[in-house]
Amino acid sequence: MPTGPIVIVGAGQAGGWAAKTLRGEGYAGTLILIGDERHPPYERPPLSKAVLLGEAAPESTHLFGSDVFDGLDVDFRAGARVVAIDRVGKSVQLGSGELIAYDKLVLATGGRARTLPMDNLTGDRVFTLRTLEDSAAIGAAFETAQTALVLGGGWIGLEIAAAARARGVGVTLIEVAHRLCHRAAPTALSDWLLWLHRNQGVDVRLGESVARVARSAGGMTAKLGSGEDVAADMIVVGAGLAASDELARTAGLACDDGVLTDPCGRTDDPGIFACGDVAVFDVPGAGRPMRLESWANAQNQAIACAKAVLGRDAAYDEIPWFWSDQYGRNIQILGLPPADAAPVRRGPSDDAPFSLLWLAGDRLTAAVAVDSANDIKVAKRLMARGVAVDADRLADPEVSLRKLL
Ligand code: FAD
Repeated sequence: MPTGPIVIVGAGQAGGWAAKTLRGEGYAGTLILIGDERHPPYERPPLSKAVLLGEAAPESTHLFGSDVFDGLDVDFRAGARVVAIDRVGKSVQLGSGELIAYDKLVLATGGRARTLPMDNLTGDRVFTLRTLEDSAAIGAAFETAQTALVLGGGWIGLEIAAAARARGVGVTLIEVAHRLCHRAAPTALSDWLLWLHRNQGVDVRLGESVARVARSAGGMTAKLGSGEDVAADMIVVGAGLAASDELARTAGLACDDGVLTDPCGRTDDPGIFACGDVAVFDVPGAGRPMRLESWANAQNQAIACAKAVLGRDAAYDEIPWFWSDQYGRNIQILGLPPADAAPVRRGPSDDAPFSLLWLAGDRLTAAVAVDSANDIKVAKRLMARGVAVDADRLADPEVSLRKLL
């Protein structure tokens, strides 16, 4: 057990879970949590869903109730940015110049929304979505906008499009790739997402780009690569996440679009750990190191990381799990489905619950479920136990998946 102090940089979901776990595991020394946002740790998924739709209050996203957070006895530095790590002297430096010593350091710095380097794609009526403030600003813009242009057909872009439609805003969505969510979803799911959004009136343009944006008193006009002009009252850029690994890179830690760690967050410096969106590690089933930008990883890797900080036996080999909610449809992905391999399908109709299941031989390797959360639960057990399954029975909606366990 380290004597401390333990310093956590980044007070998001991973930083919050790391702090809670350290205390839960019996660490009683000085614990300092430094976050450059002014909020206590909060969860981001509602920012593109219930909070954006005005159905949930911003405070409902807080990771812990104030009684739990206060009970952690954390020296919480809100609105403070760490600007440098001194690995030899074992301290971090705040923007104010203050030095804070550490025995162990956890980097839970997550990432920030990518922007597109283009004139007129910043400032008034142009948005990205990462923080509570971003969500409030987009929600306020929905109040008066008739039309929105969403740049990027990944999860955030799609959820913003769905929220905009729910608020009565017309949406054109531009995606440069030839399918939606091409980095994170298999083609079969991309096709369904396209059907879903077009069915809800979103003008989805695939294989398209924006060449330039012009502003006028009345709004903005985007000139597409094809030459067409699209007018919009607001633009939301959903261009993915840039990992906030600059502190680690400047300090000489191994980085590659994120901080390189083992699954439990150990970096190449025994005093420094990283977890959550910023960590790059060997993800089960990926065959290569990658970052996992998901709520489940931000929680569970942070828990494993905190145990590793304390020198405990820690293991983290959770099957990746992600969800999204759009137009009242719940989408869940378990594992890392291959982009183009044909899945086994349960449930024939696009507008009813269905699941897609991928097999390697007779073993389940990945699953997608739409409004079929129970299928994901059973699939997780089938995968974790390595149960041999019969593809025909898997495809038969009359056969309960539980019977295959
Ligand atoms: P972050 O949440 O990014 O937190 C890092 C914190 O560190 C930030 O507050 C940052 O400002 C701070 N920081 C960075 N650098 C410094 C520094 N130098 N000094 C001090 N502080 C610093 N996942 C799902 O599985 N399902 C979903 O439906 C889903 N929806 C999402 C919707 C939105 C709008 C967003 C943005 C994300 C969504 N996610 C979803 C992903 C999930 O929220 C993230 O994976 C998770 O928030 C990552 O947590 P984190 O703590 O690693 O990083």
